Amino acid sequence: MTTVEPAARTGALVDGFGRVATDLRVSLTDRCNLRCTYCMPEEGLDWLPKPDLLTDEEIVRLVDIAVTRLGVTEVRFTGGEPLMRRGFVGIVEQVAALEPRPKLSVTTNGLGLVKLAAPLKAAGLDRVNVSLDTLDPERFRTLTRRDRHHDVVAGMAAAADAGLTPVKVNAVLMRGVNDDEAPALLAWCLERGYELRFIEQMPLDAQHGWSRDKMVTAEEILRDLAAAFRLEPEGSDARGSAPAERWLVDGGPGRVGVIGTVTRPFCGACDRTRLTADGQIRNCLFAREESDLRAALRGGAADEEIADRWRAAMATKKAGAGIDDPTFLQPVRPMSAIGG
Ligand code: SAM
Ligand code: SF4
Repeated sequence: MTTVEPAARTGALVDGFGRVATDLRVSLTDRCNLRCTYCMPEEGLDWLPKPDLLTDEEIVRLVDIAVTRLGVTEVRFTGGEPLMRRGFVGIVEQVAALEPRPKLSVTTNGLGLVKLAAPLKAAGLDRVNVSLDTLDPERFRTLTRRDRHHDVVAGMAAAADAGLTPVKVNAVLMRGVNDDEAPALLAWCLERGYELRFIEQMPLDAQHGWSRDKMVTAEEILRDLAAAFRLEPEGSDARGSAPAERWLVDGGPGRVGVIGTVTRPFCGACDRTRLTADGQIRNCLFAREESDLRAALRGGAADEEIADRWRAAMATKKAGAGIDDPTFLQPVRPMSAIGG
């Protein structure tokens, strides 16, 4: 029988259930240039004050600690909108120079990729996930409250041209808004060689507007896709620690993923740790507690002390998020401030 070492005494980020976190999500900003209805209100939010934000150097130092002392092998930048961070290319360049070099990706709404895709690739970024929920520019405008559909589509093409491949596309479906688009979105992505993943809408919006019955479930999405395409599961262990269950479409090579965070939770295989733009560690997207690394960093703590705090924060990770439980409480911070 394998025994789990107490997390604080081992190198890795191990929790009480034996899960090891190797995938770090770094939020670079809580600000955004869109206002997706499932994420933020039209007027935006009270953004984090500038002095609270980690500097570029502080971010690189924490990622360095994660990679060299804590066994992190993948780093994904997110936000808010990470492309709005001025020093982003420089951060990618420095993180790509770490040994061992982590895999590097970004989740973005795609605005700014036309300009940044090539510099990001040159700096060492490996891949992008671009969020696009509709093929209809008018619906896009309603959904994101900005008239930028064309820029997102152009950004995806720029990412593919720059070699940030495979371009992955994230889509959230909402009842009565875009829930009729699953097959069309998949056909559109397959044509361009993009890999589409549907994400169930989660109770992480700032306005607390989520409701279980408005959410389009993984099962409904799969039923709609199966009416238009032949879907074959990608093997029983293909899901691994990745949250998306994946299917080969019409015999491949195209694929589609469905992330059923609410109805098909994957907490047992979770390998994530999260750093917010203001230097807090969260051991789960839905956690209600955070651990402050910024104070330690600015108080002069040595790397190993920061690593110990990080290990301690992960050691208390709960077994599951329990979103579908009646007792579920939404975290205080919205998704855009945690880093999606
Ligand atoms: N701004 C970037 C973007 O939109 O890709 C990165 C941050 S965003 C919070 C990360 C992902 O979370 C996006 O794919 C977005 O669609 C998704 N998202 C935001 N709010 C969500 C919610 N309430 N439920 C499910 N997914 C959500
Ligand atoms: Fe911005 Fe991303 Fe939230 Fe949309 S989902 S408002 S693009 S942070």
